[in-house]
Amino acid sequence: MIVDRLGRRFRNLRVSLTAACNYACNYCVPDGKRLMKAKYELPATEMLKAVTLLQQAAGIDKIRITGGEPLVTPKFDDFLLGVMQLPLKDVSLTTNGQLLLKKQDVIKASGISRINVSLDTLNPVKFKQIARSGDLETVLAGIDAMLDMGLRVKINMVPLRNQNMAEVLPLLDYCLERDIELRFIELMRMGHLLTGNGFQTDFLSMEGLLDIISEKYEFARTDAPHDSTAVRFRIPDKGVFGIIANESEPFCRACTRLRLSSDGNLYGCLSNSNHRYIGDLLDLPPHVALPRIQNILVDALADKKLAFQGEVTVMKLIGG
Ligand code: SAM
Repeated sequence: MIVDRLGRRFRNLRVSLTAACNYACNYCVPDGKRLMKAKYELPATEMLKAVTLLQQAAGIDKIRITGGEPLVTPKFDDFLLGVMQLPLKDVSLTTNGQLLLKKQDVIKASGISRINVSLDTLNPVKFKQIARSGDLETVLAGIDAMLDMGLRVKINMVPLRNQNMAEVLPLLDYCLERDIELRFIELMRMGHLLTGNGFQTDFLSMEGLLDIISEKYEFARTDAPHDSTAVRFRIPDKGVFGIIANESEPFCRACTRLRLSSDGNLYGCLSNSNHRYIGDLLDLPPHVALPRIQNILVDALADKKLAFQGEVTVMKLIGG
């Protein structure tokens, strides 16, 4: 097993199916940029081979399908159906929800049991300002369809001091009413937020967020799964919410994540642009591919930082 001196190993793989996205969220994508797919993206069959190889080489047992926006790529169906056939402990999906209604049949057929929907506001005007595309009603209808199908839904919200602070309580109420766990993701210094003042302007700390929530609810800290990145709180008789407190309570020292980009590169750390191409290993016989990928994983693990520092890499490229 490949383990570093802090005892960190790769268990969770985030697969960015495509770099393309149908949104252009203002904290993810710089002004005027469109979200294109990478020049050469691996087909679904190759990505499935990569997952199998990483499973064998690193003991990966949890997969999150992300992007870009995973539902925009034609390979979504084949990848989802394929990955659900692999012997994994957990498969989950992160989506902006815009295409959930269109994809509900394949989602149902795949047997996937849980899904995370990114939603930063319940206000249709704010929605357009932040996502700069898409339509709120369609996302909400998609969430309802997932709940009706019996999927466990979590919602991810990035609280932004100058954009959606007034949305924290309405979104929490919406989630509590539906037995959905709301996950607040502290803004990260990724891409264009690493420089300039966008991060300082919009960052809202865990403390600031809890102050807002305490205006309406009493809550207490509760357990989080061992390798969870979220700090979780229970509101008695109502439900649970979580905060991915990247800045306020960093979790780098226990990070088990590995990322595979749509163009076949492995990233060992979100806060490090170092990456290694594995697309050329996927058709080699296992006895040749495995030792090579293991060497790559040793290097990728060494890329992990001790604290999150941010990175120029754009989230949509390597998946959030
Ligand atoms: N398109 C999918 C979605 O919207 O969930 C998957 C990719 S998106 C990059 C994954 C998550 O990263 C989203 O919840 C998004 O809000 C979050 N994200 C993007 N940039 C971020 C940043 N700078 N800080 C914190 N979260 C960010």
